[in-house]
Amino acid sequence: MTVTLLNKETIDGGNMNGNGEVSLAEDFGSFLSPKEHLAVPPIEADFRNIISSIGEDPNREGLIKTPHRAAEAFKFLTRGYSQNVEELLNGAVFSETYDDMVVVKGTEFYSLCEHHLLPFYGRVHVGYIPDGKIIGLSKIPRLIEMYARRLQVQERLTKEIAEALENALHPKGVAVVIEGMHMCMMMRGVQKQNATMITSHMMGTFRDDRATRHEFMSLVKGHGEI
Ligand code: ZN
Repeated sequence: MTVTLLNKETIDGGNMNGNGEVSLAEDFGSFLSPKEHLAVPPIEADFRNIISSIGEDPNREGLIKTPHRAAEAFKFLTRGYSQNVEELLNGAVFSETYDDMVVVKGTEFYSLCEHHLLPFYGRVHVGYIPDGKIIGLSKIPRLIEMYARRLQVQERLTKEIAEALENALHPKGVAVVIEGMHMCMMMRGVQKQNATMITSHMMGTFRDDRATRHEFMSLVKGHGEI
């Protein structure tokens, strides 16, 4: 038997308002913790400098609040630095004799490329074969989000997710496949607008056994558009 969970839910990184709803009127700042808010002013000063340096007037009406909003956004988009895998997975690893493939596919992610600080985004597919331990399924999207909300390259993001599961569960195998679209390529307009980058990291049986790898890949194929 194989368990497949199609994850269409977008993980928003935590609703600090506590009502579980995201309103369009809410800005990034409403998602930040009091501690995260403390980091905003120095980033704000830096954004004010950037705006001046590109020849704009940071004091004109439309831009007055921009450094503050951009700083809150940047803090939010990099909040993965204030999380760690031990805390995140704490209490969510369970003993279980189930030993067939578990697949969580199609989890959306949004990250920032570390070369240009521009977004890349797409979907992550995760599979593992338990060896006595399983993880609460909601933790996999959280894990993806923690690593995505740092300055990244897609290759490392793929590997970090796989290794975190390997370390937490010591499963028989782990597979992570990421399909990503990179704004730093798309916005250069060099006919790469539709280029999807695919990376994968296979460990254990997914690496060693072709049939297992094939089963995983056929399960994650056809999940819909990224
Ligand atoms: Zn880039």
